[in-house]
Amino acid sequence: MNDGGQQGDGTTDQDQTGAVAIGRRGFIGRAGAAAAGALAAVGPGAAAAASEPRFDAEFDVVVVGSGAGGLGTALFSRWQGNEVVVLEKAGSIGGTTAKSGFWYWMPNNAAMQKAGIADPKPDFMKLVARLSAPLLYSPSLPKLGLSDWQYAMCEAFYDTAGSAAQLLHDKGALPYQHPMAVVDYWAELPENKAPRGRVLMPEGAEPYNGGKVAIRFMTAAARRDGIPIKTSHRVTQLIRNAAGAVIGVEATQANGSTTRLRARKAVVFASGGFTHDKTLRRDHLGGAIVGGCAANSNEGDFLRIASPLGVDLANMNHAWNCPVVLEKALSQEGSLWGSFSCSGDSMIFVNKHGRRVVNEKLQYNEITRAFWAWDGPRQEFPNSVLIAIWDQQAQDHCNQPNYGSFIVPEGQDDAHVIKGATRTELAKNIAARLQTLRDQVNYQLAPEFAGNLEDTIKRYNGFARSGKDLDFHRGERPVELMFNGPFKAVAGKKNNTMTPISEKGPFYATLMGPGSLDTKGGPRTDTDSRVLDVAGRPIPGLYGVGNCVASASGPAYWAGGATLGPILTFAYRAANALQQEPAKASA
Ligand SMILES: Cc1cc2nc3c(=O)[nH]c(=O)nc-3n(C[C@H](O)[C@H](O)[C@H](O)COP(=O)(O)OP(=O)(O)OC[C@H]3O[C@@H](n4cnc5c(N)ncnc54)[C@H](O)[C@@H]3O)c2cc1C
Repeated sequence: MNDGGQQGDGTTDQDQTGAVAIGRRGFIGRAGAAAAGALAAVGPGAAAAASEPRFDAEFDVVVVGSGAGGLGTALFSRWQGNEVVVLEKAGSIGGTTAKSGFWYWMPNNAAMQKAGIADPKPDFMKLVARLSAPLLYSPSLPKLGLSDWQYAMCEAFYDTAGSAAQLLHDKGALPYQHPMAVVDYWAELPENKAPRGRVLMPEGAEPYNGGKVAIRFMTAAARRDGIPIKTSHRVTQLIRNAAGAVIGVEATQANGSTTRLRARKAVVFASGGFTHDKTLRRDHLGGAIVGGCAANSNEGDFLRIASPLGVDLANMNHAWNCPVVLEKALSQEGSLWGSFSCSGDSMIFVNKHGRRVVNEKLQYNEITRAFWAWDGPRQEFPNSVLIAIWDQQAQDHCNQPNYGSFIVPEGQDDAHVIKGATRTELAKNIAARLQTLRDQVNYQLAPEFAGNLEDTIKRYNGFARSGKDLDFHRGERPVELMFNGPFKAVAGKKNNTMTPISEKGPFYATLMGPGSLDTKGGPRTDTDSRVLDVAGRPIPGLYGVGNCVASASGPAYWAGGATLGPILTFAYRAANALQQEPAKASA
């Protein structure tokens, strides 16, 4: 095998065996010369081309990635009688999924039906259309403002989610609980006819550790049902036959050796997004992020591997966004969680000018958008870092060890916390901390910061006393109360998300930046998870599930669990569809 794809120009190499290997250094978004029918034998191996490729092992289905998308597809396929293998780049199983809370949003699921909660399809479609196509949404349009593709994907999600969840539950691979306390992120919208009930969680899980529990269930089921999971196997190449069908992969192991696996029916990528590839982030995301809490091994491998096939990229400009503790994101701290619950009642976010710019209790995807405001005359992003500021009261009563809280309990690592005995001292220390990050982040406090901060706190304290945030309406929506975090209950308090900030120190601060749980753009798939080329044709033998492919949600984060719900659903649909895949010629 030559080192296929090492030409760095997106062309294909042909290995010694006659099968075609697509290199991982292709250029994103280019219709590759390697599209079916344009295969060329190039590279040192070409002269030795033989009729039968060499493979180290053979399966019906080769799955790439061991998160929810990968394990889900593997299990569903195995239950249809297929021989399946899962290849995982990292040294451990589970990817971002293992870090997650693993709420999964499943419309019209069996538990809702049992509880008598109606979830009518027309209203569900209106809800997701309103959130995903805010500029075009109209309830009177046949597709409600969604593109044909988005509409079909959303409909497929609604139609199949319940069956996917139920099969996993019934097979003991992901038994669920039905937490009725969880409220949808847009519970208040008139289109939302089922504001509670769509969210499921793994049985026995707490709201913040479901991912570990889910991966434990799913790997146990994989072991029980005979699915090998090979860690430290990074897939670097696709292998195609002369007709252009994908017939296998090449993977590199930790010791540098390579292995080639044949897929009789299909290769399914579930390799996560590109949160940890700075170049892809810079070149594709609509709003800059400083990093995120996806597994560090999610570096956009599928984009590079699949681009030479002429895949049709979509939704590359959006991510599942969340605010992150800036310094932890910059150092790619593996245990990082997004700050899903910005706890703290005597706590505000301010920008470099000392001004509040956002409702601090907005759900995470929405808060993140505040970081991207652009100041044209000054040619700067005034909010690209926001500074969370709180007092001793919040430190005492609003600390929590989970949900990515930046107000951490005593004894927990608080290197990200900046302290000051007075607000003047705090401002000085914030400026000094920003100075230490100068090479990574161009953001310094404006000279008026400390003065404006006093005015901002005075105004905020008035809102806290009256219970009404006239600037940003903090704490007025159900989801904001759900994510409020701990606080000290005081009789007569009008708004549990706000308490006046003390005039007396000590004070605390941390630097927040825009981040992602992971990205959500990539090759477009059809409703059965087949990867499509730029002409809209499925690439034979190639499927994609999860954050490595395009999400139909556009900019929206429909609800808690709105990443994992569709991921499990499209894993199920992929497994059903690939049953119909014809066996591929091996040369
Ligand atoms: C802290 C946190 C909490 C979250 N909570 C929720 C929640 O409650 N509900 C919800 O819906 N979403 C949640 N999310 C998001 C959710 O976890 C992800 O959207 C989801 O797990 C992604 O699943 P996936 O299968 O697409 O990818 P992943 O789980 O990221 O798995 C991809 C895997 O592919 C592997 N891989 C990458 N490249 C290769 C390669 N070349 N070869 C082989 N393997 C490769 C990676 O190592 C990784 O293990 C949360 C995320 C985080 C970080």
